[in-house]
Amino acid sequence: MALPSLSAPEFLTKVPSTGEEIKYRPFLVKEEKILLMALEGNDQGEITNAIMKILGNCILSDIDLKKLATFDVEYLFLKLRGKSVGEVVELKIGHSDPESACQHRTEIEINIDDIAVVGDKPNDKIQLDDSIGVKVRFAGMDDISSVDTNSSSDLFKLITNCVEYVYDEENVYGEFSKQEMEKWLEQLSSEQFAKITDFFNNAPKLQHVVKWKCPECGKEDEITLEGLAAFFT
Ligand SMILES: [Zn+2]
Repeated sequence: MALPSLSAPEFLTKVPSTGEEIKYRPFLVKEEKILLMALEGNDQGEITNAIMKILGNCILSDIDLKKLATFDVEYLFLKLRGKSVGEVVELKIGHSDPESACQHRTEIEINIDDIAVVGDKPNDKIQLDDSIGVKVRFAGMDDISSVDTNSSSDLFKLITNCVEYVYDEENVYGEFSKQEMEKWLEQLSSEQFAKITDFFNNAPKLQHVVKWKCPECGKEDEITLEGLAAFFT
C-alpha cells in the first residue's frame, strides 16, 4: 500500500516589483537538502540555482521566475524560509566601525516579517532627449549571476541585457541583437548613460536596519543589512 501523503499549508504574499499576489508553500525536507548542498559548495552560481529551484517548487501560482527582479527573489526566498524554518533569524553582529576597540559580536534576533523591500520603483521609461527614450527592466537572477556589478564593463553588459525596447514619437524598437544594443548604448552621451545607470543604482533593495546596545562596551550601534546574504551566516 502506498504511504499516506502529508499536505503542506499554503500562504499568500505579494511580488514586491509588481504587487501581484501569489500562493506558496513552505520548504520541505527535499528543499532543505537542495539548499544545504548548495551552501556547502559555497559557489554563488550554485546557490542562485538552488534558490531558483526552491522558489519554482514552492511557489504554487503560475509565474515566470525568470522575470522576477533580484530583490523579488530575495524577498520571496526569505518569506518561504520564514514559514519553513522559523520567522526568527539569529545573527552575531560586530560594531559598525570595523576598527572599533571592542570586537564583541552581539547576538541579535531579527524577525523575517520585519525585513522589507525598501525604496520606490524608479521610472522604467527613461527619456534621453526630446524624442528618444528607452524602456528597461530590473535585473533578474540570470542577469547578475554572470556579472560583477562593481565593475563598469560588467554594468554595461547588465544594462545591455535589461533594455526591453527603445522608443521615439512614432515607433517602438524591440528587435535588436546584443551587439546592436551595445553599439546603440555606446553612442549615448555620458549624461544620457548616467540616467540609465541611475535606474539600476536606485532599484529597491531588501534592507533592514538593526540597532543594538553592545553588552561588552555599552555602546549603542546601528547597521543596515542589505541583500539575502546578510541574513544568513
Ligand atoms: Zn562593544
